[in-house]
Amino acid sequence: MIENLVREEIKGFKNYEVHSIPYRYKMDANETPFELPEEVIKNIQEIVKSSQVNVYPDPTAEKLKEELARYCGVVPTNIFVGNGSDEIIHLIMLAFINKGDVVAYPHPSFAMYSVYSKIAGAVEIPVRLREDYNYDVDSFIKVIEKYQPKLVFLCNPNNPTGSVIEREDIIKIIQKSNGIVVVDEAYFEFYGNTIVDAINEFENLIVLRTLSKAFGLAGLRVGYAVANENILKYLNLVKSPYNINSLSQIIALKVLRTDVLKERINYILEERKRLIKELGKIPGVKVYPSKTNFILVKFKDADYVYQGLLERGILVRDFSKVEGLEGALRITVSSREANDYLINGLKELLL
Ligand code: PMP
Repeated sequence: MIENLVREEIKGFKNYEVHSIPYRYKMDANETPFELPEEVIKNIQEIVKSSQVNVYPDPTAEKLKEELARYCGVVPTNIFVGNGSDEIIHLIMLAFINKGDVVAYPHPSFAMYSVYSKIAGAVEIPVRLREDYNYDVDSFIKVIEKYQPKLVFLCNPNNPTGSVIEREDIIKIIQKSNGIVVVDEAYFEFYGNTIVDAINEFENLIVLRTLSKAFGLAGLRVGYAVANENILKYLNLVKSPYNINSLSQIIALKVLRTDVLKERINYILEERKRLIKELGKIPGVKVYPSKTNFILVKFKDADYVYQGLLERGILVRDFSKVEGLEGALRITVSSREANDYLINGLKELLL
């Protein structure tokens, strides 16, 4: 009986799968290896107490928005906070996508653009990246001209390839589009270039960010959108009233006010450089350039490498069965110790 009650879009639908695999080093989900900053840990009891969990959280996360606005160089009314940027992708669909509307996104890219498109009943147009995983801007322009997508996603830098799209190309795409263009900057801090400053120039631009990556708060689920008020008012219209819990709001705020970010980013960038160099020394391995905290690597036998790493307690992300990513594993740049362990594991397997 229940089967007959389910929405058409959900019948036979497969959601994003997260496997619980035991590990010693977690290098599969682009998290950072850092714990909460010392000064936050030290005051955690006070912080928790002041969060007043017996009452509902601030529905608009006002203080957090002020801090995020400062960080982005915009005003708080240009910020929308979500339960992870995942939730914001979902809310964008909820606010703007009717069944049958067209959503375009790069391929290969972040899986949730497709997952939420399917749930919304959108028509999906994946736009292939080039052979070297750089963006094919002409293809995007052609897709926009032909299908007039309601929504275009650009992931910059792109997950899982680590490649980027240049500012002038993003602007070309925004100007061509009669729909909304979402630029997902989840990995901005490891790249340094942003389009956030253009939100008032282009009324159809939404920039997505997250505290899950460089800020190391994946478990708190805090993402945010930066856009003009005219777009954000519709996201506010469809969101749950208390989407960000009190503890996440206050801990995120405290972490934003610490000054550990720069040092932590530099650590990851140094380790990225070192990993790319070391991986490049292993014969038969193809390493792609990266502007993120992960590296896409192709192997002749990705299954053998994935399993061999797993046996050594290293969890990486297997993309080798995804069309366009044959032979590829994605490795998150982690602590020096974890990265060394990974390199040694790979050498044992491949030399
Ligand atoms: N966008 C991209 C490109 C991502 O890689 C991720 C996390 N894997 C997200 C969005 C979602 O991040 P979160 O929901 O943790 O904010």
